[in-house]
Amino acid sequence: MPELPEVETIKEGLRPLVAGRRILGVEVLRAGAVKAPPAEDFCRGLVGNRVLGVERRGKYLLFSLEDGRFLIVHLKMTGVLLWDGEDVPYISARIALEGSHCLVFQDRRRLGALWLVADPNTVVGGLGPEPLRPEFTLEAFRERLKKRSAPVKALLLDQHFLAGLGNMYADEALFQARLHPLKKAKALSQAETAGLHRAIKEVLSRGIALKGASVDTYRLPDGGRGGAHLVFQVAHRRGLPCPICSTPIQRISLRGRGAYFCPSCQNR
Ligand SMILES: [Zn+2]
Repeated sequence: MPELPEVETIKEGLRPLVAGRRILGVEVLRAGAVKAPPAEDFCRGLVGNRVLGVERRGKYLLFSLEDGRFLIVHLKMTGVLLWDGEDVPYISARIALEGSHCLVFQDRRRLGALWLVADPNTVVGGLGPEPLRPEFTLEAFRERLKKRSAPVKALLLDQHFLAGLGNMYADEALFQARLHPLKKAKALSQAETAGLHRAIKEVLSRGIALKGASVDTYRLPDGGRGGAHLVFQVAHRRGLPCPICSTPIQRISLRGRGAYFCPSCQNR
């Protein structure tokens, strides 16, 4: 699933391509992809509108439009936004832009979602803080953790707790901080909390620098792959040796998701 570094990379790639271009046509091939308004109103509201820019909030992309509204996209498990990607399967929607360009929303698992809204907060208003912005201070993180008895990894995946982290980067951050994914959030020491706060920022920044992780379907808007998965230390590495102690990486199930960790380095 695309996480903060993947969505940030897509935003940075698309911004210079789409900014300033007028939307000439919209084709929705999977009606269920449009969450609001009804697909017909969605298309009518976009055609003739001009894209002003693109921002990211958590794992959402927000395209600001000339009429003040926002086109919001969530890629969910397998969504990809391809620039001029015409001949690909599994297309959910296609947006024609001036200059004979086309933005294609490809989505194998068909879970991705689109909105056209006047107020972005109706979609993204409930998200937690952005981990790479100054608002995500150590004090605020400590305050949010200390009342919670949930496993620390479950909290990191909760988008209301913190926006943008998913399975891969949560596993990497917990490994870097040497914390077991099932450790209770409120049991973290001051030093452990500081280490995790630092690790979250570092793994996300590294992911962005390497243009995201193409472990499965994630692609850049030009169809290229990211390189962040090439430096993963535990995520998607079950059975491979821990880079610190050579113990085989384990995978456990946590609330229906896989959690990868080193049973020797990451103590509970
Ligand atoms: Zn280890």
